[in-house]
Amino acid sequence: MILISEIFGPTVQGEGSLLGVPTVFVRTGGCDFRCSWCDTLYAVEPRFKSQWQSMSAGAIMRQVQELSGGVPLLITLSGGNPALQPLAALLELGQGMGYRFAIETQGSKVQTWFGQLDYLTLSPKPPSSGMRFVPELLQQCLQAAGSQTQVQLKLVIADEQDYQWARELARQYPDVPVCLQPCNLQAATPQEPERETDLEQLNASYRWLVERVGQDRWFDVRVLPQLHVLVWNNARGV
Ligand code: SF4
Repeated sequence: MILISEIFGPTVQGEGSLLGVPTVFVRTGGCDFRCSWCDTLYAVEPRFKSQWQSMSAGAIMRQVQELSGGVPLLITLSGGNPALQPLAALLELGQGMGYRFAIETQGSKVQTWFGQLDYLTLSPKPPSSGMRFVPELLQQCLQAAGSQTQVQLKLVIADEQDYQWARELARQYPDVPVCLQPCNLQAATPQEPERETDLEQLNASYRWLVERVGQDRWFDVRVLPQLHVLVWNNARGV
């Protein structure tokens, strides 16, 4: 059984190299991290467990089929940390129906079924998150993905220290595509679910990041905003 926080869509992927691709989100419940700027605490903190549902692969696919009108599309597995869940059966069932799967995980937990995925987005957390980065685990995640899964590194950047960390990480993995994303430091929280982020501040962070990669002549990178935040601000379920 798989612990689910929410299933919603269709919408479009708002982050990383699949930006703008129509998708249904399957958000799992539970995370082994607690990042300082997490924007999905309702899928992280154990106190929200009563809102999560334990679902079978079949029940999840029935809900996805209903949302997509039975038309196969990209399913984005997010969290929390979806790599904590037993997802092999879901991948097999969904792919048998023609759906494709992308997962977003911080790379702290390695699963053999990473090799079954269509897309694996690894998002190791930078210093500003307050979490510890373990390079060996990232390496193991990349190995588990094998050659059939398209892999990318998506790195959230809040400040210069994060940027330097990302630059060094990218140097270590020259063959893995890298996306940089400015950090939303004013995400909604369980205490303030209606909190609005400062879009002008986010745009300024984006412009700074573009200038920064330009100064370093770092040209084999993509700098992308969080599209859904620009369009819907901190709204949930989009
Ligand atoms: S890893 Fe992701 S879901 Fe988990 S606490 Fe950090 S930002 Fe939130």
